[in-house]
Amino acid sequence: MMRDYHKVIIRLAASLLAVLFLTACEKTPEPTVVGFAGGTMGTSYSVKWLAADVAESEKVKQQIAELNAAADLLLIEVNQSMSTYIAESELSLLNRAKGDVQQQISQPLFNVLQLSQDISRASRGAFDVTVGPLVNLWGFGPDGRVTKAPEQSVIDELRSKVGFQRITLDTENVSVSRSEGVYIDLSAVAKGYGVDRLAQLMDANGVMNYLVEIGGELRAKGLKLNSEPWLIAIESPVSGQRAIQRIIGVRDIAVATSGDYRNYFEENGVRFSHTIDPSSGRPINHKLASVTVLRPSCAEADALATAFTVMGERKAYEYAIANGIDAMFIVKSDTGFIEKQTPGFATYLVE
Ligand code: FAD
Repeated sequence: MMRDYHKVIIRLAASLLAVLFLTACEKTPEPTVVGFAGGTMGTSYSVKWLAADVAESEKVKQQIAELNAAADLLLIEVNQSMSTYIAESELSLLNRAKGDVQQQISQPLFNVLQLSQDISRASRGAFDVTVGPLVNLWGFGPDGRVTKAPEQSVIDELRSKVGFQRITLDTENVSVSRSEGVYIDLSAVAKGYGVDRLAQLMDANGVMNYLVEIGGELRAKGLKLNSEPWLIAIESPVSGQRAIQRIIGVRDIAVATSGDYRNYFEENGVRFSHTIDPSSGRPINHKLASVTVLRPSCAEADALATAFTVMGERKAYEYAIANGIDAMFIVKSDTGFIEKQTPGFATYLVE
C-alpha cells in the first residue's frame, strides 16, 4: 500500500517536471508592431498596431490577414459612396442628377455631409464642399490638370453655383436636397472619414494600440512599444522635397495636415494651389503654407485643416484658440518659415 503511494508521488513529480520543461522551451510572446498597407483614394494607406506577439506567429499572421481584408472592403465601400473619381459612386450620381434634387442617401454619406455643413457654418464658408466646380475648373479634380489660370468670367459663372446654403439635410429621412448645378466634392473630409472608419474597425476587433493612416491623415490610439506614444513627422512645406519640420508624439487623437506645397501648378512664377477660397473662387493667396490640426475625429481634423488654410494664419489661430482646437501653422517669410502653435499643440512636440 505504502509502495503504491510512493509510485503515485513519483509519477506526479515526473509529470510536473515535464510540464515545467515544456513551458520553459515555449517562446514567450514578444509584443511587436505589425501592420499592412495598400492603395486607396488616389493615395496610400497604412495600418499598424501593437500585436501580442511577433508577426511570424500563426495567431498574428491570421489577425493581419483578417484585418487587411476587412480594411480593403471598408475602403472600397467609402470610395463607392464618396468618391468624385468614380463615375458611378453614390456621390457622383447625386452630382449628376438633373434639376433640384431631393433624395435619400446612405447614412455614412449623410454623416459626412452633416459634419461638412457644420464646419461650413462655423468657418463662415471657408470650408465648403460645394466648391467642387471650381476645384475641377482649376484642374484639381477628376477631370485632370490645367496649366493656365481660367478666365475670370468662367470663375464668376461657376461661383454662382457654389454655396453650402444650397444644400439642406433632413436627419429624420436621411435625405439631402440640393439645388440645380450644385456639385459636391468631399476630398477635404472623406479621407479623414476613411481614417475614422479604419479606427472603428480596429476598435471593433479589440485592438487597443494602433496607428491608422490614409494619405498622411491619421489617427492614433494607445501606445506603441515600451509605452511610448506614436511618433508622427510633420513635413516641412517645401515643394519637391521630403524634409521634417517637427515630430509630435500622439495617443488617442487624429492628426490632419493641409498645405499649398504638394498639389499646385505654376504660371508665370505664380503658384495656384488646390485649396480654393470659396469667396473669391480662386486658389488661396496668402503666406500660410501648412496647417496641422489635432482632433478626436480625423474627418473633423481633415476638414478643419482645409478651413484654416482658407482662413489664413491670423483668423485661423483666433478660431483655434476660441474653440479649444490644437493646431500648428507654418507661415512663409522672407527668411524661411515661421511656426505658430496653439499652447495645447506645443505639448505634443517631441522635436
Ligand atoms: P486637403 O487639404 O485635405 O483637401 C484639399 C481638397 O479639398 C482639394 O483638392 C479640393 O478637392 C477640396 N477643396 C479645395 N478647397 C476647398 C474648400 N474651400 N472647402 C472644401 N473643400 C475644398 N485622387 C485621385 O487622383 N484618384 C482617385 O481615385 C481619388 N479618389 C478619391 C476618393 C475619395 C473618397 C477621396 C476623399 C479622395 C480621392 N482622391 C483621388 C483625391 C485625393 O486623394 C486628394 O488629393 C485628396 O483627397 C486631397 O487631400 P489632401 O490631403 O491633398 O488635401
